[in-house]
Amino acid sequence: MSSPYGFHFDNSYARLPERLFARCEPTPVATPVGILFNSPLAGQLGLDASTLDSPDGAALLAGNTLAEGSEPIAQAYAGHQFGYPNMLGDGRAILLGEQLTPDSQRRDIQLKGAGRTPFSRGGDGRAALGPMLREYLISEAMHALGIATTRSLAVVATGEPVYRETVLPGAILARVAASHLRVGTFQFAAGQRDPELLETLVDYTLQRHYPDLRESDNKALALLDSVMERQLDLIVHWMRVGFIHGVMNTDNVALSGETIDYGPCAFMDHYHPDTVFSSIDHQGRYAYGNQPAITQWNLTRFAETLLPLIDTDTDTAVQKATNVIKSFSGRYDAKWLAMMRAKLGLFGEDPVDATLVQDLLDWMQRRQADYTNTFRDLIGETAPVDGIYQDEAFENWHQRWQARLSRNAKPLKSSFCLMRNHNPAVIPRNHKVEEALNAAVRDDDLGPTHRLLDALSHPYQDRDDIDDYRQPPKPAERVLQTFCGT
Ligand code: AMP
Ligand code: MG
Ligand code: MG
Repeated sequence: MSSPYGFHFDNSYARLPERLFARCEPTPVATPVGILFNSPLAGQLGLDASTLDSPDGAALLAGNTLAEGSEPIAQAYAGHQFGYPNMLGDGRAILLGEQLTPDSQRRDIQLKGAGRTPFSRGGDGRAALGPMLREYLISEAMHALGIATTRSLAVVATGEPVYRETVLPGAILARVAASHLRVGTFQFAAGQRDPELLETLVDYTLQRHYPDLRESDNKALALLDSVMERQLDLIVHWMRVGFIHGVMNTDNVALSGETIDYGPCAFMDHYHPDTVFSSIDHQGRYAYGNQPAITQWNLTRFAETLLPLIDTDTDTAVQKATNVIKSFSGRYDAKWLAMMRAKLGLFGEDPVDATLVQDLLDWMQRRQADYTNTFRDLIGETAPVDGIYQDEAFENWHQRWQARLSRNAKPLKSSFCLMRNHNPAVIPRNHKVEEALNAAVRDDDLGPTHRLLDALSHPYQDRDDIDDYRQPPKPAERVLQTFCGT
């Protein structure tokens, strides 16, 4: 069905067994006002940016009116939160429908903060402006960094207060995703003890994200292996840019391989594997350096849901699933080292590479060196010598790196090019994000948000006008904690 805004929905999820979701409409808000609108994304989705970026469009993106063809639902899911199982579901997000794009993609369009649903439990179903702007900023930054992620189409202020520790302005984020299928969706289905439901979900997931696997001999096992492959690629990217997701619960692991749920996430400034920002992560469960191990843990929970479909004999099923889960570490190490080689401009493979990488990281950790800037500073014919680099250990490492570079079969300029493409110049540093959000929420000033979005739009380019965004925080500017997107 088409609409004046260009919506062209085909809602396959709403055709699945009804236990997997609840039909429910967004609760209208007082005075929807568009705050941010992503015109390029609208274009890619086949939406008409000029009609949608308007007061009527804001009413639609706040859920006050429904686009033609939309069949709003809240999805059911379960999940392990900080290790403990819970029944969850979309408590404040409502899927409007699946947009068929001009390039034949299918994209969920979901309103986050659209009001209560049958899964809201004690929550109000709403979201505050600051966290929704934060999700918009960081998800779009991730996309520009070349990392699979849900996207942000718009932020609309509701004109209603939300009550947290303080009273905050409310907002709704229009989120775009390849799907909202999660490990937690399978945990929910497995809990229904209905193999048919589970099989339906496997077929649906394959159809939507892994169509080549539909004819596999063992579809469930093939799905496990391929979901693992995408998760591996995803978190290696996170490690590359110093991204800390912060709340890697199984309900926040998307089977599409996209980064999802920008709550307390943050980028690391100085390198340390134990870095944690989330105010609710007291044990450091989701620390930077724990992300691979946690991913393997989450995939193990996924594997458990698939056992009845992997083999009718439980022992055999466990054996087969375990073999896949056990392959995680070797696959991760290989992908991680390949990524680190690229960050250091190294072509081919050399026995010294793993040690060379680790020694640099150890040096960065000891010296509290900035993760992003150190790699970027390495690019160039001459060694950096100022400040932190005036250091024997660094000079020594640099000579070893030069020796390794000289064994590359390609010229130095190819190494620098590789490095420029794998080491961002700009990341959304916490203090700049906070500065932008404070201006937007406290002073109604979106200038800093727009400037930050612009600085983050081409993160691998050297630009003179964005120097400010490249500096690590001064001690007084340091953000020590981030909070859940509430
Ligand atoms: P998260 O930690 O963001 O993955 O969210 C965990 C669960 O809490 C999900 O089921 C959310 O839908 C739910 N939730 C978060 N905030 C609210 C809210 N304000 N009202 C209702 N449910 C919420
Ligand atoms: Mg979530
Ligand atoms: Mg969240």
